[in-house]
Amino acid sequence: MTEKRVLIIGGGVAGLTTALELTRFGIESDIVEKSPFAGGHGIQFACKATDRCVKCGACVVEEKLRDVCAHPGIRLLAATEVMSIEKKSRFSVTLRRSPVSIDPAACNDCGACFTACPEGAVQQGFSAAHNPFYGAMEDRCSRSSGGSSCTICRDACPQQAISFSPEPAVEETAADAVIAAYGFTPFAPIDKPYGYGMFDDVVTNLELERMLRRKGLPLRPSNNALPEKIAFIQCVGSRDAKRGHLWCSKICCGSALRLAGLIRHRHPQIEATVFYIDIQTFGKDFDTVYPKYQEDLRFVRAIPADVLAADDGGLKVVYAADGTHESREEEFDLVSLSVGITPCTGAEKTLSALGIDQPENGFSGASRDPGVFLAGAATGPMSIAESVADAGRAAIEAAAYLAQ
Ligand SMILES: Cc1cc2nc3c(=O)[nH]c(=O)nc-3n(C[C@H](O)[C@H](O)[C@H](O)COP(=O)(O)OP(=O)(O)OC[C@H]3O[C@@H](n4cnc5c(N)ncnc54)[C@H](O)[C@@H]3O)c2cc1C
Repeated sequence: MTEKRVLIIGGGVAGLTTALELTRFGIESDIVEKSPFAGGHGIQFACKATDRCVKCGACVVEEKLRDVCAHPGIRLLAATEVMSIEKKSRFSVTLRRSPVSIDPAACNDCGACFTACPEGAVQQGFSAAHNPFYGAMEDRCSRSSGGSSCTICRDACPQQAISFSPEPAVEETAADAVIAAYGFTPFAPIDKPYGYGMFDDVVTNLELERMLRRKGLPLRPSNNALPEKIAFIQCVGSRDAKRGHLWCSKICCGSALRLAGLIRHRHPQIEATVFYIDIQTFGKDFDTVYPKYQEDLRFVRAIPADVLAADDGGLKVVYAADGTHESREEEFDLVSLSVGITPCTGAEKTLSALGIDQPENGFSGASRDPGVFLAGAATGPMSIAESVADAGRAAIEAAAYLAQ
């Protein structure tokens, strides 16, 4: 390994890939991940294989995470954020680490902290490759927010793996280059007219992904029963001129079709209907699975106007029929909203310290600093495969810069 060190902001598939690619050039890195779990959005996805692999990319994220955790040249700092960053001869970086920490060497994943926490602040991760498997969410922990002196999780831990610092721990570090891979923020459908937040059985595609990853079943949150009819509503928050979101998020059609295909494969009695504008099926190999979805799923070319409560506790999807524009209502017992990719929020201060431009659409443009590189969905909607490729490009550019 050389003495050059890179700071990677964001531990999603793009950040993980950049770190791994940099090790090929003998360059070590620190990955700073704000959540207690690395892997970004992709680690929350279920494998969508039916009788064959449908190339959803979920396993790629799992593999990258496992490789990063095992690599001695990569330091993965979860529950950590950049407080300040300044370019001198190198980048001087101040990191803020969570006041609640679980020692990965001591933790044996018994889950006692998870069971004991009355606030739901201790959460399970999504991958056994992540060590520790449990993590404390600062925004839910009254101790972290300074509101209490609760020690329940620490007292419950038989391994004495949990420790508290009086206030968030601060660490000074330095880097020769920075890779910004902070990803995206899923569109929050709270102000769309689809009853999200009002009806338990209206969920986002990300919530459905997590449910399938954790439980393997698409359960109705209202009663934990399998649904009989699921509606997938596409383009929620994308291609939406009212919100200034003119872009196609690219991944939602593939994601919804694979999710629906998996559900139908496991539970053929469940009917799945996809409401869409047009199906974006680009991406390597998607055409090999699309014909099967066309046979297996029902497609309705319409973007629904509303989701209302039905008399029997179900949900009524209201839409205009394609061609006639005649108003229709149809009942479903689970509705999945395909929320799109929007620019990452919460990193504005870091972006400006790194000289990163923000074009009008809000995604990140290039940096004015030659030592700062961008990777993955921080720059715009992209799939896991594209994020991996983009991260490879960023790593090569950073290595070339460091070799100068
Ligand atoms: C519902 C849904 C389904 C999808 N399904 C598929 C699919 O089936 N197949 C596919 O190929 N793609 C899919 N995608 C797209 C996929 O999620 C992205 O391609 C991928 O997550 C991009 O990786 P990334 O590392 O760039 O960003 P992210 O996955 O968003 O990771 C970014 C990471 O950076 C962290 N971070 C953010 N800000 C900071 C900060 N200031 N400091 C430190 N850390 C920070 C975040 O916590 C996160 O862990 C889907 C997307 C959505 C929304």
